[in-house]
This record gives sequence, structure tokens and C-alpha cells, in this order.
Amino acid sequence: MATGLMKTIGAGELSTENIGEDVTLAGWVGRRRDHGGVIFVDLRDSTGIVQVVLNPEDAPASEEVLHGLRLEYCIQINGSVRARPEGTTNDDLATGAVEVVASELTILSPSEVLPFQLDDRIEVDESLRLQYRYLDMRRSRMAENLRARSQAIRAMRNVMDEEGFLEVETPTLIASTPEGARDMLVPSRLRKGNFYALPQSPQLFKQLLMIGGVERYYQVAKCYRDEDFRADRQIEFTQLDFEGSFWGQEDVLEVLDKVARRVVLDLRGTSITDDFTRLTYAEAMERYGSDKPDLRFGMEITDLSDAFSATEFKAFAGVLEGGGAVQAINAGQLGLARSGLDAQVSRAQELGAKGLVWMVVNEDGTVRSPVAKFLSESEIAQIIATCNATEGDTLLIVADTLPVVRQVLGQLRLDHGKPENNDDLAFAFIVDFPVFEVDEDGALSPAHHPFTAPASIDEMVNSPETAISKAYDLVLNGTELGSGSVRIHDSDIQAKVFEVMSISADDAEDRFGWFLEALRYGTPPHAGFAIGIDRFVSILRDEPNIREIIPFPKTQTGADPLTGSPSRVDDDQLVELGIEIRTSVLDAWAEREEGSSEG
Ligand code: ASP
Repeated sequence: MATGLMKTIGAGELSTENIGEDVTLAGWVGRRRDHGGVIFVDLRDSTGIVQVVLNPEDAPASEEVLHGLRLEYCIQINGSVRARPEGTTNDDLATGAVEVVASELTILSPSEVLPFQLDDRIEVDESLRLQYRYLDMRRSRMAENLRARSQAIRAMRNVMDEEGFLEVETPTLIASTPEGARDMLVPSRLRKGNFYALPQSPQLFKQLLMIGGVERYYQVAKCYRDEDFRADRQIEFTQLDFEGSFWGQEDVLEVLDKVARRVVLDLRGTSITDDFTRLTYAEAMERYGSDKPDLRFGMEITDLSDAFSATEFKAFAGVLEGGGAVQAINAGQLGLARSGLDAQVSRAQELGAKGLVWMVVNEDGTVRSPVAKFLSESEIAQIIATCNATEGDTLLIVADTLPVVRQVLGQLRLDHGKPENNDDLAFAFIVDFPVFEVDEDGALSPAHHPFTAPASIDEMVNSPETAISKAYDLVLNGTELGSGSVRIHDSDIQAKVFEVMSISADDAEDRFGWFLEALRYGTPPHAGFAIGIDRFVSILRDEPNIREIIPFPKTQTGADPLTGSPSRVDDDQLVELGIEIRTSVLDAWAEREEGSSEG
């Protein structure tokens, strides 16, 4: 570390090579032990920890100061490095072979009693950790996560730089764009009654950069989406955003592959030798029931329509006649008792299926199952063969509409599948996404965003529900790390997409006229991608939640317990913005909240 003038070396940088040297250290009192008057302190700074010996006989400070030394006091010491006496070395500590005998102690800043102990072994309530994030960061978990985050971003920047990308910043006060989520809005003081939106991503600006001849752009970009919280979502998050001109899907995936490998190498110290798996969206849905399959294990979905094509078992026959599907996963040797097997049925119902049929394969090729008596011997034999099952395997079968079957079996697969090793990483590119998602009312919304090129214009216009786009995702261990696409670079086609989405020509002109116009000035073909940095690092750090990777995250309700945001503002500020908060609106909102929490 570049130490500055207040210290000569980092605490964690000391080793036996420094024995005999005089050093000046500065940091915090991590632990403090009093041994018959001699005080041992674990001095911690951003580089690590070293043991410091404060012996009153060496008079490093007055007795009073020495005895007043408390946890997390910020101190500076002068002293000399020596080998720890035999039998007192600490192999768990990187600096455990040495200690520093202090000749002088200066208290730079005392600390009040802490709201929680900064001991990694102690579980602390998350809201307290967030309220005192600056203390939480002194613990090794957060300190290491922050370092990992920095390493990941550096690795990404290095690859981007080597590949000739230009880092360009784009504005964060912009006009609203239709990217699928709700915008965060900022009122304008100078043009009262008008609002900026915070970017859901720099999408349109990076496309403008391509029109502007930049050819290779990237940015570590803050993005804002006013969505409900989940473990891997925050209203404010960070992406590595990039775009290239005269580029197509394969060019993007090649760079993405390099970025992902470099980040893993720099964070984990391991090289990924395998090619990333590549699946079409259709294949992923068919085999894993998900567009972000966890490929650390197999347990693929098997279609049993053939096995049941002439079945007497009414429930399945009915589903098949009605155009539905009967499919299964072989969950392997679950070894569940009857109650455990029945719990699979409730789980499937919870996930949206009407029911589930379980079967456990017996040694003699028969099965134990509540529906065994309705099935013929040949049906059972065919099921076992199709599912590649052997004695003791548990098959979980769902009969329903195809989307429900996939959704339920896809989740059950995640419930039961186990990676071989905890540190396995299974990357996958998912390609050929549909252009549109169709909601229950038949309305079309873009599966990626409306600037994504369809594979065929005719197909998009004539059969939008099934049309394929040039969008692709990167998936790691069952999590979507990011998405991208080849873009539309033709104004007329862009207008056509808006039209299919039921955005009228006038409306499109009103909201995106400026962009449609820009597309008319010799726009190069271009394509790009954005990787969620928080998610990527959280997986590599084995953290269950992206909040552990974000220095100052928000809670599940979008609040920051440290600074108290979001908060009320002064009436004067509101007047300047031309905004009035109507108590009737607040009352109605409070009433609705109360109703939904009761419900
Ligand atoms: N802007 C897109 C997103 O944030 C990514 C892209 O298409 O490049 O998901």
C-alpha cells in the first residue's frame, strides 16, 4: 500500500523479512488483551492485522493512556518488529510469525462503545449493520467484499482497455425510456411540472455514441429501476455496459467471454478451461424449464407424452387431450419417507401446479406411487426408461399447461439438484430469445427492450408471438448476469417495432422522435451488452445477497437506515419545485398499505 506520511508500512504487510526494522503503524484496536500489565493489541488497518506489544516498562505512553485504550480506538505506534517468542506464533494470521514492540503510542481518535462487536464470528442484525455500515466495513467480510468488487471492476476495465474500448460517461438525468421497469423520477426546478428520469441503463446514449462514430464504448454505469425488492435486486445497481459498431452477436459474446474469464481469474485465481455452454432460449426452456438454467447439475426435464399417449389414467389423459404436457424430472436418490414425498406435492401446488405425481423405482422394475395402480406395466417400463431411472430414483411428474409444467419442474430441479463442488462455475450463453413476451391479456411487451433487432422483420410483423430476436443473455449458476442484443439500426424498422407494441406513430414520435431521427443519419449496425457487476461478484464471493457486495445498499423497502433516505423535504424546496404533497393522497396510500398488509 502507498502508506502516506503517518505510517511506514501496512499492518498486514509485515513478515519475518521485517524483523529488526523500526516501523510506524496506524490503524484500529481490533482486539486487546491484558497480560499482567503488558497489553497485546491486534492492530488492524486496510491491509490486515498485526500483534502489537505495549509494555509499560518500555513506556510507550503514560499508564493512564495505556489503560484507557479501548476497542476501535484509532491509534498510531512506533516500534520495532521482532519474531514472536517460540510457541506463540499464530498460523491463522498472515503476520502471525511476528509482532511489533511499541516504543510510542499516540491515540489519534478515541471510539465510543460500539453498537455491535466487530467480530466476524458474531451474527449481527442486517438493519444494524446497514445503519452503521462504516463500522460493518471494518469487519473482514465486508472489507474483503469491497476489495473483490474493486478487483472485478479493474479486471473488466483492463479487458475493455485491451480490446480498444473508450470509456464514456452518459448522463444520469435523462428522458424516460421504455426498458421494462418503472422509472425513478427527479422533478425539475427550472421547468416546473417536468421530470427527469434516472437511467434504467445507458441504452439510448450508447446507441447515440455508435451513431456518433465511437465504435467501441464502455462504462461502469449506475442504473436505476423502481422495482420491488428481491434478494438480487436493488433500485440502484451497477453494470458494465458496452457497445460496438460493425458488430454482431458473435463479436459481443467473444468479448463477454474474455471479460467473464478475466474476472474469475482475478477474483478466484482459477482459469476456466471449458467453453461456455450455448443454448437457445427454446432449448433452455425445454430441457431446464428456465431461461437461466443452473448447469452445475443435469436433472433435465423429460417429456412423457409418448409414455402416456394411450393411458387409462384419466387425469393425465385429460391434460394431454387438452393440449397440455406431462413431463418429469428424475430427482435421483432422494430417500424420502411418505411424508417427504407428499411434501413434494404441496411444493408443486405452491409453485402453481394443480398437483404432482411422485414415483419411486423399486428393485424389480415396478414403482411405488399413489397412481401405480392406474398404470400398465408397459407404461411404467416406458416411464422408467425415458427418465433413465434406476432403483431408488424418485421421479416427480407434473401434468398441466406447458408453461406451468416448465415453471414447476424448473423450480423442483433447483430444489433437488446439487453441484458436485461448492465452487463450481457453470457459465452459459442463452441465445435466440423471443422478440416479445405475451401477457395474459395478449398484450405484447419486448422480451429484452424495444431497440432489439428481430431475427426477421416479416416474422415479427406476421407472427409476433413466436418471433425470434437477436437478444442473448449470460447466465452463471442459474443467475442471469446480464443481457444484450443486436440493435435495430433502421428508423423504419424501429418505428415498426413500436407499432407492433401498440405505441402509436404519434406517441412514438412524441417520446422518441429524437431517437428515430438520429437513426436516419447513417447509423452503423451495432450490438452490445450489460453485465450486472453486483450479481457477478456476489456469486464469485459466494454471498447470498447483492447487498453484501454493495458498499451502501438499501433495505428491502428501499430505505437507507444510515442516512435516512428517502426522506421528507422542506416545504420551501417543494414550492421551488412547484410540487404540493396532498395529504389526501398520502392518506389514501397509507390506507392501501394497511389493507395490503392485513390481506
Ligand atoms: N441496456 C440493457 C440492459 O440494461 C443491456 C443491453 O441491451 O445492452 O439490460
